[in-house]
Amino acid sequence: MSNDNPGIRNDSGKRAGTVRLAVVTTVVLALAGATVFALLADASAGEAGKSAGATTTVDPALPPPTVDMAIVRESEDGGKTVNITLDDGPDPRWTPKALELLERYRAKAVFCLTGPNAAAHPDLVKKIVAAGHRLCDHSVSHNTAMDKKPVSYQEKEILDAKRLIDRASGGERIWYYRAPGGSFTPQIRQIAAAHGMRNLGWNIDPADFREPGTDTLVRSVKNQLSKGPTVLLHDGGGNRAQTMEALEPLLPWFAAEGCHFSFPKAG
Ligand SMILES: [Zn+2]
Repeated sequence: MSNDNPGIRNDSGKRAGTVRLAVVTTVVLALAGATVFALLADASAGEAGKSAGATTTVDPALPPPTVDMAIVRESEDGGKTVNITLDDGPDPRWTPKALELLERYRAKAVFCLTGPNAAAHPDLVKKIVAAGHRLCDHSVSHNTAMDKKPVSYQEKEILDAKRLIDRASGGERIWYYRAPGGSFTPQIRQIAAAHGMRNLGWNIDPADFREPGTDTLVRSVKNQLSKGPTVLLHDGGGNRAQTMEALEPLLPWFAAEGCHFSFPKAG
């Protein structure tokens, strides 16, 4: 439940194309299945890492998108901004602490919820919304290999989670969809966009799920700030004590750096 693959850093669609070509070549050469699998995994990271302006092809077999299908990482506000995103909750151990810190430092965040966690903790989902934060669909099963599954499976994972989050929140807007581990495909992006959810990526990944130590986490986020505004952290899926300890100094540090808290573009 905890690993949002940090391999989603490739901003080059060209490189993704090269990787896909490598996959085809590998298949033709009938090399070992494990090698093919590894290359496919790279290819999916390439899809997830495409820039917001990447060309997208609409699949006529799926409902048409109502928001931009491209993966968003940029802020909806201008100027120097930061977008906090918290994945894999809500979790009664960590989400209340995250909400308290965000309130203390007048920060906003996107909470990427799995359907079952939302269904188990509707009180927390309602608190998230009441505090002015935004909801994001993070699938039902958190299957990081979802991009290799049939489209029918992908649709069910996305829409079943959306229904569970809808029910938990009382029908509040779900602004984004974030594929577990960044396992996006064009079809997955279209399914989310057809239901009004902007596909959400990230720029800054300190790999908090690996629990590298609070100081390392803080340093890693600070060092990556130049990459872009959207920070990937977790308030569920494991022990998030270090993440909460890291947020405490990081939230005022962003403000001291002249950043204001924004949200990723949703349109
Ligand atoms: Zn996740």
